[in-house]
This record gives sequence, structure tokens and C-alpha cells, in this order.
Amino acid sequence: MGRRGPKPVDMGLLNMWEVEWYKAFHVLRDGAPLVGAQSMRALTASRKHITPKMVRSWVTHLEEMSEDEYAKVNELTCEQILKDRRTEPRQNSMASMSDPVNEADSLRRREWARAQKEEEIAELKRYLNPQRIFAEAERRTIWAALCRARTAPALKQVCEQWANLPDVRRWGLVCFPQHVLVNAPEFLRMKHKKSRFPTSDSATFDESRLEYLARGMAGVMTGVSPMTGIQLLRTMKHTEGGPLWKKEPGGRGYCNCWRCGLKRSRPAHRWSAEAWWNGIELFMAIAKERKKR
Ligand SMILES: [Zn+2]
Repeated sequence: MGRRGPKPVDMGLLNMWEVEWYKAFHVLRDGAPLVGAQSMRALTASRKHITPKMVRSWVTHLEEMSEDEYAKVNELTCEQILKDRRTEPRQNSMASMSDPVNEADSLRRREWARAQKEEEIAELKRYLNPQRIFAEAERRTIWAALCRARTAPALKQVCEQWANLPDVRRWGLVCFPQHVLVNAPEFLRMKHKKSRFPTSDSATFDESRLEYLARGMAGVMTGVSPMTGIQLLRTMKHTEGGPLWKKEPGGRGYCNCWRCGLKRSRPAHRWSAEAWWNGIELFMAIAKERKKR
């Protein structure tokens, strides 16, 4: 006799849908898939010797770079940064990023590289053209309306505007507003949970609002309720024994979720604007060297 009770949730699938929705909502709100609050710092403090001309050539180079090449250059940059900072422990997980053991790993690595590369290009373009931020006011209005929508007709109207954004069409993200519409009752219901759904307008609350909706929709896509999706992802263990914990042969283990993957990305990202510029300068120098060969 089989085991009774609800079927266990596929945490890998739930995690995969979480990042897809997280990116789709970020593209809607910010015009880039993984823009964090820290990325805006790049605008405020550029290094004097980095000219707009240089930044434009980086953008072109990045746009031409394949995902595999991006991941490789990132790995070399990380090694260089860590060599310069002996105090920082060598992160084992990076080896796993650079040396995919199977097809799923290399797909994950390419997906990661694509998102990271798009984010960086978006950041550099913002630096070159700060006015873009004002143009983004329109998409923020759509995002705010999505958060506010209380009725099916209001939701329908905002999803149509969302689906019509040129880059949403270009990046093939039209299916996301469609999924919201198909699952309108679930979507509206999870927002009705006033005690859970943040309603304040500060940037921090807006970020948790985005996360809440992404997790809820990940639940819907995985065949559980939005609240189950939110709860499972919020309380997921990221240490040994967690559902996505992976062990390298003979090496240390790591959490294979997308969040932990992002944290393992170029360490410079986590420090400051100056470190961000240093990191990208080093990255582009290594990329240029490799291109010459
Ligand atoms: Zn994790």
C-alpha cells in the first residue's frame, strides 16, 4: 500500500518557478531581470578613469559574449579577486559552477550566466543613460497597479499593459501575464491576505511584495496553493540536509537553489560601488585578454 497523505512537493521545480517569476516581475518593474537595490549604487560612484566610451565598449563586448564564456571569465575573475583577498575562504561552490558535471548543471550555469550578464548590461546602460530611469516610471505604474488590483477586470487591464511592453515581448515573457490571468482567482486571493501581503510603499516592502507574489505564483505553477508555495520557500533549509543540498564528490556541499547560486557569484558584487566597478573592470580586462588569443 502506498503512503497516504499529500504528495511531496518537488522543491527543485518550486525553486525553478520562483526564480522565473522573480525575474519576470523584475523585468516588469525595473526593466531588467535581477536588479537589486545595490545595483543602483553603480550609478553614484564611477571611477574617474572609466570613460563612457570604455563602458560602451564593455556593453558591446558583453552583448556578444556567450553564456559559457561569461561563466568562464567570471570564474577567472573570482579566482583573481580571492587571490587578492587571502582572508576570504575559497568557495568550493564556484568550482561546481565552473565545472558542470552533468547536463542539468551546465543548463543551470548557462541560465545563471544569462541572467547575470543581462543584469550587468542593464546596469552599465543605466550609467550611460540615467534618463532611462525616468522612462521606467511607466512600468512602475503597471507594477503598482498589479499589486493594487482587487478585481478580475482590473487585473485583466493591467496584465494586458504588462504583456504589451516591448521588452517583455522581445524576451518572450508574455506567458507570465497570461499565467496570472489564467490563475486570476488564486492571484487575487493571495493578495487579500492583508496580514501577509506587504502594502507599504517603501522600497524594502516593495521587494518583499515582489518576492511574495513570485513565491505564490511558483506554488500555483507547481500545483500547490500560493500560500503553500510561499510557506515552503520561506522556510526552506539552505544548509546541510536541506532539500536542494548537493554534495560534490569528495568536496564540500552546497545549496543548489538559485538564491545561494547568486550569492556565490562574483564576490565584488556584495561589497560597494567601488568594488563593483573594480570587479567589472577586472572582468572586462580578463575577457579582452581571452578574446585576443
Ligand atoms: Zn539555497
